[in-house]
Amino acid sequence: MLIKRAPRVAGVSGKSLLPAPPEWTERALCAQVDPELWFVEKGESNRPAKSICQQCEVVPECLEYALENDERYGVWGGTTERERRKLRKERSNTRE
Ligand code: SF4
Repeated sequence: MLIKRAPRVAGVSGKSLLPAPPEWTERALCAQVDPELWFVEKGESNRPAKSICQQCEVVPECLEYALENDERYGVWGGTTERERRKLRKERSNTRE
């Protein structure tokens, strides 16, 4: 996605103020494609993004990252926000 890498911000010392992006983002297929595909407008299809995700080798890492960080927008790990909401709910139910 997007490569969903955290932007680097140079601090006073010249060091990044943000943590480095996760290692798996180096292998993200979405880094090689128009990031707009992963953040479609209402009514547009997210199938192209999901199709690329199906070929990506870091789907599990990406999905887990999105779930842990409560990513609300875009396709992550081959899932839409609606699908992630369902997964979070299922996980929550199994913990109860
Ligand atoms: S699974 Fe999809 S959104 Fe996640 S890194 Fe791969 S291509 Fe990008």
